[in-house]
Amino acid sequence: MRITFLGTGAAEAYPALFCNCERCQRARRLGGRNLRSRSSALVNDDLLVDFGPDAAAQSVRFNADLTRVENLLLTHSHMDHLFTYDLIHRKLDSRRDGTLGRMTVWGNTNSIEKFEEQMRDVLMETFGERKSLLVKPTREEVIEELGEYLHLQTMAIEPHQSLDVGRYKVHTIHAHHKEPELCLNYVIDDGETRLLYGTDTGTWHEAEWEYLESLGVKMDVVALDCTVGLKPGGGGHHSNESFLEAHAEFVSRGLLSPGVRFFAHHFSHQWNLPYDDVVAIMAPHGVEVTYDGLVVEQ
Ligand SMILES: [Zn+2]
Ligand SMILES: [Zn+2]
Ligand SMILES: [Zn+2]
Repeated sequence: MRITFLGTGAAEAYPALFCNCERCQRARRLGGRNLRSRSSALVNDDLLVDFGPDAAAQSVRFNADLTRVENLLLTHSHMDHLFTYDLIHRKLDSRRDGTLGRMTVWGNTNSIEKFEEQMRDVLMETFGERKSLLVKPTREEVIEELGEYLHLQTMAIEPHQSLDVGRYKVHTIHAHHKEPELCLNYVIDDGETRLLYGTDTGTWHEAEWEYLESLGVKMDVVALDCTVGLKPGGGGHHSNESFLEAHAEFVSRGLLSPGVRFFAHHFSHQWNLPYDDVVAIMAPHGVEVTYDGLVVEQ
């Protein structure tokens, strides 16, 4: 499995869009791995996890051909993970040559409803005049247009499901984030390698550990939320402390394969430090730190 981390920052990016704090200034000064766009990861070339507002720039910067993506897994509905508007460019007028296969968008009910609702507005703007639409299309019409013009279909899913997603088996975990939305973390299994993609989440409830144990597989790659590093408690994200507790829990429950690569992922300028500083904190624990453009082959 080849995992390309297209983006590794939290909602505002790092340095943040409108921030001049000392961390953002330091990140700007250091450059390189200290510069983070909004989080998204490409698995091989056909499965994308989250589609944020930096997708266009990421696909150029890391030479990611998104026409090959057959399935898009959404972790939740926050705008840094779901930027509906750019998906309109799947329409025929936005492309020149070549065919575009179908893509399925998987997400919890909130994400799928938000996606369809926002897409309704974009479709109105794009096709309304041509189709003489005077009223907003119904949900059924939106779904029909998504299929016809954008080669897209949606699938609402929930925690503790095992799904056939293209050539992958995907297991859904209930993330502790943005409640009551049922945010999702994913185990993505291509038959050889198991990736656990675990953002955005704070400390899982016991049921999630038990669910993971019930799958009877060990993780080969883990990318786990480390958004609010220095914040006491963490909440709907991991602090450095709760992240390391979760790492220890993975170890003590025997959920990691011997050669596992375990990454801290998804960083906020408000509470966590630039890349170089996080590496110094995590390295003694055998934990690596994601950065934009990181490619993991496992
Ligand atoms: Zn996020
Ligand atoms: Zn800042
Ligand atoms: Zn979030």
